[in-house]
Amino acid sequence: MKQSGFSPKTNGKANGNGNGHEHDSRGGAKNGAEVRERDVEVLVHGETPFDAELRSDDFLRRYELDFPEVDRDTIMNAVKNILYAVGEDPDREGLLSTPKRVAGAYEELLSGYRMDPASVINNAIFDVEYDDMVIVRDIEYFSLCEHHMLPFMGHAHVAYIPGEKVIGLSKIPRIVDMFSRRLQVQERLTQQIAGFLEEVLGAKGVAVIMDGVHMCSMMRGVGKLHSGMSTSAFLGEFKTDKTLRQEFIQHVERASSKKSLL
Ligand code: ZN
Repeated sequence: MKQSGFSPKTNGKANGNGNGHEHDSRGGAKNGAEVRERDVEVLVHGETPFDAELRSDDFLRRYELDFPEVDRDTIMNAVKNILYAVGEDPDREGLLSTPKRVAGAYEELLSGYRMDPASVINNAIFDVEYDDMVIVRDIEYFSLCEHHMLPFMGHAHVAYIPGEKVIGLSKIPRIVDMFSRRLQVQERLTQQIAGFLEEVLGAKGVAVIMDGVHMCSMMRGVGKLHSGMSTSAFLGEFKTDKTLRQEFIQHVERASSKKSLL
């Protein structure tokens, strides 16, 4: 039950190994319940050593998670100046609240710099003996290109070969959000998601493929025909094992040929 976030395959294997708890059989369900209560207590009364590691200065700095709060007033002034500069009247009715709205929008769209990785993962990392490829496909993402501060968006496809740990599948889209809600280039975004998963899970291999359409080229009339872009990152076994890499790529291609891309 507690592993409902995983694919049925993972579940089967985990149950086969006897649910991971090391209490003896005499206590049965009662004993199991006690173990779970203790687990809950640990979560309520303090952070685990793993959480502390994710919140260490070094970790936060390496993944650019230590940015200060957004300065809304400065954004509002800047937006007002932009409105003047393009010949608009910031005091006309339709624009009166625009600086405030834009500041709020940037705070949200760039929130990936200020997320707490331990909360994002939220105790959804488990020790499970399972070494087949885990795939999460078609994760929708939205980001801002750092060259024009205009949106780019598309889908991320993520796979990993578990090493020490597995992660609840619902957490992978949140990790994608954490890195996409920033000023990005698609190549770095792809690398950061892969690197983070490799480190946090101790994965034997991580693969990330992302497709994206970039408003900065679509809306500006440059390269309208070539605005779609695909990037990939292959780490560990995905880098060294060509067959494994091909298996993942084919999986992604099969899935995306069934529906039209953005
Ligand atoms: Zn751009």
